[in-house]
Amino acid sequence: MFFGGFPGGDFPGMGGKGGGRSKNADTTKFYKLLEVDKNASESDIKKAYRKLAVKHHPDKGGDQEKFKEITRAYEVLSDSDKRAKYDRFGEEGLENDGPGDAGDIFEAFFGGGGRRGGGGARKRQKTKDVVQNLKVTLEQMYSGSTKKMAITRQVIDKKKGVQECRECDGRGVKVEVVRMGPMIQQMQSQCHSCGGQGKSFQTKQDREVLEVHVQKGAPDGHKVTFREMADEHPDADAGDVVFVLKQQEHADFKRKGADLYVERKISLVEALCGFQMELTHLDGRKLLIKTQPGEIVKPMSQGFDPLAKEDNKTEWEVIEDADCPSVENVAQADTTDIDTLKKACETQLKRKGIDVGCFVVDGQRAYFKQCTREEALAAKKTRRGSTMYLIPDPDAKKAFRMMKAVKDEGMPTYKNPFVHGNLFLILTIEFPDSLSPENQTAAS
Ligand SMILES: [Zn+2]
Repeated sequence: MFFGGFPGGDFPGMGGKGGGRSKNADTTKFYKLLEVDKNASESDIKKAYRKLAVKHHPDKGGDQEKFKEITRAYEVLSDSDKRAKYDRFGEEGLENDGPGDAGDIFEAFFGGGGRRGGGGARKRQKTKDVVQNLKVTLEQMYSGSTKKMAITRQVIDKKKGVQECRECDGRGVKVEVVRMGPMIQQMQSQCHSCGGQGKSFQTKQDREVLEVHVQKGAPDGHKVTFREMADEHPDADAGDVVFVLKQQEHADFKRKGADLYVERKISLVEALCGFQMELTHLDGRKLLIKTQPGEIVKPMSQGFDPLAKEDNKTEWEVIEDADCPSVENVAQADTTDIDTLKKACETQLKRKGIDVGCFVVDGQRAYFKQCTREEALAAKKTRRGSTMYLIPDPDAKKAFRMMKAVKDEGMPTYKNPFVHGNLFLILTIEFPDSLSPENQTAAS
């Protein structure tokens, strides 16, 4: 509840210009309306209006037309210029001064404040968008698919319709005018029967099934939007329902843009002599991939390995929201720059004889742990906001990786599904135990 003037702009049917002009030069009507005589002083007019406005105010059950008339009379007679014109020519003389907004005048009279909204100029709002993640497999993104999603939303019960609240005439507030001796006080409070909405309407739960089309080659994070499918409200446009496609990890294929990567192990013999392998593609087709003798042994474009984070840098394993508090910190750093931290592990700390198996980064700091990879993993605890960086599996370092490109067998390109990316086989050559790459060179 608050005290203040009446919300001027919201008086229904009181705006407009130039209504109600008498044909004869009647110069007494306004005086009669205010029940004052022709010689009434400014303060008489004011007093008279105050009394009548309170009596006839529509919020007090008064007649709207009557209220409008007396307000118009007051508007003219309280303005010495307009009053002079009226006294000479009647309402005809006020041709260019159409009646103002009765509400505004009333408000100006009783003092402003507490004005609600901006009348018709108010921008139409939207109800809240509903955003939902939708898990999509790489197969579905490759071939395109349609997912049926059921949503439950609040809709306006159209059978019952939207009615203006009878308690407050659709204004959402109730105004009480209280006389306290010479003072008049307006008390405005939210209408209880409509909760300040000004409307009474009923909503019902509506279940709808939306068909979400996953387009061929749709990128991870792609948004599929259903316009105006969120909750309904009589005073707002319904918001949108938005599905965000979340690409799921695939056991075999990794995606980078339109390119696909598959990792395989081959033997040294296969690498040297050529091989063929069958690969089941994302759409179920069987691809037969063949290499020529010697093809794999030739390093492709300077040992380019798209799955390694950066060329030949140690690839640390990252575990989000994790810490290993039971492993003692051997050092800490006031930086969270990952590259600097990795470098510190691989150089400065190593030179001091500290073998960091793991470092943990929180919001401000990094903590280095002297342990093995396995010890860090065994001590792992969930901790929001912390990230564990684990030294890579030492066996992975020995991997000798090569790549074979299969043209146009990657993902369809989004928006041009006839154009495909490439498929790359990342081949890890398994050397026989007795013949590692190092002792191979030593032997020759
Ligand atoms: Zn109401």
